[in-house]
Amino acid sequence: MVKVLRDVEISPPTFETLEEALGYAERFQQPQAFVTQFVASLNGRLRFSAPIKFDSFLSASGSAVISPGRETIKIGEAALVRDSELFKTLVHEEMHLRLIRKAREGNQRALNFVTDPQIATEEDYVERIAVRYLRMYESAFEKFNH
Ligand SMILES: [Zn+2]
Repeated sequence: MVKVLRDVEISPPTFETLEEALGYAERFQQPQAFVTQFVASLNGRLRFSAPIKFDSFLSASGSAVISPGRETIKIGEAALVRDSELFKTLVHEEMHLRLIRKAREGNQRALNFVTDPQIATEEDYVERIAVRYLRMYESAFEKFNH
């Protein structure tokens, strides 16, 4: 089972120099390597509970595979447009996984979120957390380049 996708509208950054533009373009040529390196650059400040895989067929920024034993955070090309979007997407999908796990353990609040017929309830919740994490991360450590 794959959780609903999240659409984003993000415009690509502008560049001061050609080198900067070319450096940015590399992420689209080696997306899995870029995502892996991006996660490594977070230096463990953010822990992920499932493998993170780039999926070129994914039209949204990300999705979470929530089947037990197959849990995966999938990243789509849309998330690569900005580093801040990639960060937020990673947190968003990780939060889906944590929520589902808690619900499976019987946590009532988590159960309410994941069983709400209005899928938007869970979406709003994990997205709000993702936005908050991004804000906290950028104020505690560094602003993302793009
Ligand atoms: Zn979502």
